Amino acid sequence: MPTVREQEIAAKVAAGERLTYADGVDLYATDDLAWLGELAHKVRTARSGERTFFKVNRHLNLTNVCTASCAYCSFQRKPGQKDAYTMRVEEAVALARAMEPAGITELHIVNGLHPTLPWKYYPRVLRELKAALPGVALKAFTATEVHWFEKISGLSADEILDELIDAGLESLTGGGAEIFDWDVRKQIVDHATHWEDWSRIHRLAHAKGLRTPATMLYGHIEEPRHQVDHVLRLRELQDETGGFVVFIPLRYQHDFHDSADGIVRNRIQAQTTMASPAESLKTFAVSRLMLDNFDHIKCFWVMHGLSVAQLSLNFGVDDLDGSVVEYKITHDADSYGTPDIMHRDDLLTLIGDAGFRPVERNTRYQVVREFDAPIPLADRRREPQQGWA
Ligand code: SF4
Repeated sequence: MPTVREQEIAAKVAAGERLTYADGVDLYATDDLAWLGELAHKVRTARSGERTFFKVNRHLNLTNVCTASCAYCSFQRKPGQKDAYTMRVEEAVALARAMEPAGITELHIVNGLHPTLPWKYYPRVLRELKAALPGVALKAFTATEVHWFEKISGLSADEILDELIDAGLESLTGGGAEIFDWDVRKQIVDHATHWEDWSRIHRLAHAKGLRTPATMLYGHIEEPRHQVDHVLRLRELQDETGGFVVFIPLRYQHDFHDSADGIVRNRIQAQTTMASPAESLKTFAVSRLMLDNFDHIKCFWVMHGLSVAQLSLNFGVDDLDGSVVEYKITHDADSYGTPDIMHRDDLLTLIGDAGFRPVERNTRYQVVREFDAPIPLADRRREPQQGWA
């Protein structure tokens, strides 16, 4: 039975009233996960019906060499360290071309903040990728990287974005957001890009016609109030620009040695555990309820596992990202056990088995193909069922 406070919030949601900071904090305080899921699911269903979006994409990390040492990051290496790598442009193009037969519609490119690579490398990579794969959208660089490009080039973000767009950039990526609250941020982030620059760069990108995602890294040392503050900053910016296409809560990857060399690089390991599946579902649901001006909430299955990804579709999520190949940033904090790749057919089964209709989309959420409605769960007799991680 929902409490009086829960009933009050549910009434606001039903009336289409915007939720406040206090509402968000109180939503996180509920132990009634089924009630919360139902509330978020109503909002999700009103927006997307039974549709669940996905795309066929490939991730590319051009370099893992980074000047910063963010406390939670297992991906970065310093120059000369074992496993440090930087791709030549031709290597990046060859990797992208290898995915062409799978029918990818997007390349997702994020990288370390390399200390010596010249700025011109980045537009050159985009140009050559675009020339090799003209039909594939280039979603590339976090706001943190764009801020870094300002530093290494002496150009403004305005000039940088113009050149990147000219080279084929279709969208920035949503990373670098982590948690905007400074008390938390100063403990986990080691680069110079904070809310002011992150929001400045996304605002600029939106003004130039780009549509971008926004993320939040949760499940480490932050508290629910920091998550609520984070989504409210994004909601306010979305009111202003309307340029965000999706919100993506990213689950902090605790523990785990690095798969490549057995070293634990995470410096907040001793202070942290990791969000449980229940906390993840709560985060999706609260995000869906607070972000009344975002069309989509995504579960990036690589960070949550496939079973939670399926469940998340009943907790406000309407997007399961993509096929994803070689997601090094999570898999370098490894041993979590999610696969490296999901093919289109795997995603169709994953979504259909959860009781939703798969819709393949492109980077701008335009429909590439709408698939059949799933067989009703009650009618399933397929043996053996797919065993999802
Ligand atoms: S999170 Fe990004 S900026 Fe921070 S250390 Fe890792 S690669 Fe570098």
